[in-house]
Amino acid sequence: RQRVFSGIQPSGNLTIGNYLGALKNWVAIQEENENFFCIVDLHALTVPQDPKVLSEKIREVAAIYLAVGLDPAHCTIFRQSKVSGHAELAWLLNCVARFGELSRMTQFKDKTVRGGADSASAGLFTYPVLMAADILLYNANLVPVGDDQRQHLELTRTLARRFNHLYGETFVVPEGMILESGARVMGLDDPTVKMSKSSKSPGHYVAILDDPDVIRKKIRRAKTDSGTEVTATPDKPAITNLLDIYSATTGRSVPELESEYAGRGYGDLKKGLAEAIVETLAPIRERALALLDDPAELDRLLDAGAERAGAVASEALGTAKAKMGLG
Ligand code: ATP
Ligand code: MG
Repeated sequence: RQRVFSGIQPSGNLTIGNYLGALKNWVAIQEENENFFCIVDLHALTVPQDPKVLSEKIREVAAIYLAVGLDPAHCTIFRQSKVSGHAELAWLLNCVARFGELSRMTQFKDKTVRGGADSASAGLFTYPVLMAADILLYNANLVPVGDDQRQHLELTRTLARRFNHLYGETFVVPEGMILESGARVMGLDDPTVKMSKSSKSPGHYVAILDDPDVIRKKIRRAKTDSGTEVTATPDKPAITNLLDIYSATTGRSVPELESEYAGRGYGDLKKGLAEAIVETLAPIRERALALLDDPAELDRLLDAGAERAGAVASEALGTAKAKMGLG
């Protein structure tokens, strides 16, 4: 039995990338583990958010966690901002992390391409340290995430080892769990960038809560490559992405899909893919919308989760503080 921690930011509409890269895996492994699944709302503040929208998105993430099949009997589901240990341990670890290593984080570079680093929040810069705190606070040994979190996970491991070296054995050094299929879904409008829920372009992603007709339209309009053959090759990044999504959604292999669509063209591929996505997401959407009809019940669940998480977190935080001389 492993201790599992993972989270998603309430920073927009959760996408099929979040589903295939993270949520689907969480559901698959929940029964054999002890799980902490967090709505990482403090992370969302690293880029500008409308306060009213943010508070709605927080409940939406909670509803989606339940709608995809996470079971509160196996999982502690809670909000990061309701457990103050996350912010406190992040500060302690900020004093262990180095400016140079944070400067090398590619997500910071990716998220600041337009505005430039000077106008980015300091929070965006230290984001990976907060993420390390999230994980280490629960002494999690397993962290199921998408491929884009590989570098942040490595930093988490580095910080755990450094803290243990400086102050004595304290934290578990966690392992990442990144699936082969679905761990890196690319944008529908641009297959050279990772699909992200914070994208401002609606054609960039399929959202978990998109209406079936919206899903069909978005897939129909997804970028394709030149040529006509349905093959996953390096010169066809857009078709490769569609095949990868298809494969991760249905569990069928890419070669199998290639031979099914051989000689049939991109249009047929898109039709088949759209229906496969609708089949997967429509029931999730219905359950999530039903759950959102009762926000008080969602809030109760989150409060109960925060209480359980808080008890585990305060113990780990107390230990870390004492080791550093703040006992
Ligand atoms: P944002 O644009 O706000 O960063 P995001 O879509 O990247 O949103 P996160 O909340 O940062 O979502 O990440 C939540 C989880 O989803 C992480 O485990 C992350 O690795 C995974 N994930 C995010 N995008 C993808 C993707 N395109 N393919 C697979 N997994 C993804
Ligand atoms: Mg992200």
